[in-house]
Parts: sequence; C-alpha cells; structure tokens
Amino acid sequence: MESYVNPNAHCPVCGCPVFFYRSPYNGRVFFDWLGWPWPKHGCTDNRGEPQLTTRQLTDGHAPQDPAWRKEGWSALLSPRVSSAVERSAIRGDCATGFVDPVLPRGTKIDRDTPILLRTILPDLHEATFLASDHSSTIPVAAAPFDRRLAQLDDSVLTLATKLDAAALCAVGRFLLWDLDDPISARQYQEAALERGDLDAAFDLMVLARWAPEFVKTATDAVQPNLQRIRRDGPNRRMLDLGVF
Ligand SMILES: [Zn+2]
Repeated sequence: MESYVNPNAHCPVCGCPVFFYRSPYNGRVFFDWLGWPWPKHGCTDNRGEPQLTTRQLTDGHAPQDPAWRKEGWSALLSPRVSSAVERSAIRGDCATGFVDPVLPRGTKIDRDTPILLRTILPDLHEATFLASDHSSTIPVAAAPFDRRLAQLDDSVLTLATKLDAAALCAVGRFLLWDLDDPISARQYQEAALERGDLDAAFDLMVLARWAPEFVKTATDAVQPNLQRIRRDGPNRRMLDLGVF
C-alpha cells in the first residue's frame, strides 16, 4: 500500500483545512498541522469515527504559522526513506541544503512519511516523522546524524542533540582527534563548555593555540543554538522519544 499526504484536505465533519495522511497499512489520519507533536484533528480523532468536539466548534482552524517553524524546523523536501535491517536513512533538501543522514538503530519510519528536520550542530540533526503499524500511526522524534559519525554510539549522538554536555564533548573529541575536523569540533566543544563540561576546555585550549582564527567562526556558528538553549531549556520535547 502506498502511503501519501494530502496537504490540502478538508475535514469531512467541520470543513476546516487539515492534512490527511494515509499510512502504508491504509490507516487514515487527519492532522491539524504536520510536525511535532503531530496534533490529530479533533473531529476525526476517535478511530476515524466523525466526532464533533467543543474545541473544534470554537477553534477549528489550523494555525497559520505552526510552532515548529518558529523553532527552526523545516520540512524535508523531496524526501527519500531507505529502510535497512540495521539502520534506516533519510535524505532530501532542508533549509541548509541537501542532507543524507542515517537514523539510530531500530528507528521505525514510514516510507512516505512527511519529515521535519532541523540541524543542531555539524552532522547532527533532529527529525520528526510518522511510523505506522497495522493498528496505529504514531509520531516519532529521532536524532539522525551524518554517516561519518556512525562509529559513535547512537545513544551518545541522541544525547548530544539534547545538548548533554558530556555527549557534546565526546562528539567534539571524535571530530577533532579522529576525523581531524577542528571547525566542527570547536562548535561541539563550545556548546559543551557552555553547559559546564570542563573536559571540553582542554580541546578548546588546544584549538585556540593551534588556530586562533577558529575562535570567532566557531562562536558565531554556535550562538543561535545557545540562544535556543537559554530560551527553551534543553530541548524537553525531544526527551520523551517519540510517542503520545
Ligand atoms: Zn473537523
């Protein structure tokens, strides 16, 4: 069964604009908007049976500017999902260009799901999409990463997207000492130090000694992320990996 999304659907009950998703198992779901937390449209939330709720009578319109867009998410354009036994992968065009990351082991994803993505740090992203089985379609939050980080543990990379200081430092060290990429490493270590990891300071001192010109570049690049941390805290919505 081919799944698909209709972004221009209308609710059969109240007529409001909604997003219609048909899962690979022929599940039919209406969403008010696409993206975390994937709010299901109230009229049709009850196992596909039309049901008018109070909220829908007064507040039936899909928001014009969904919250995810304000938080740096963008829809992955021309998305492709490749499923594999060990790891699935996604690719497509996002706000910053073409991306081709892999997903943590065991992550379930529908072949034709819409995918929202934002890049946290070099080679490291957050994504949200849909995964279905015979009985339901659930939203998933995951931390895709570029293939050159695949030697690191999935759990470390996922923690790094939540801006865990020790995880950021571990990824930074790998970039610096294994991949010889001081520019990317510096961004991780700046973020790790900002969150209190003093081990990161060692790498930063090494970098500053070798290449003082990296300091400003790295600081500029990491600043938007740090502003987001200060505003939102450590990314709480990604903490409950996945399900509502
Ligand atoms: Zn409706």
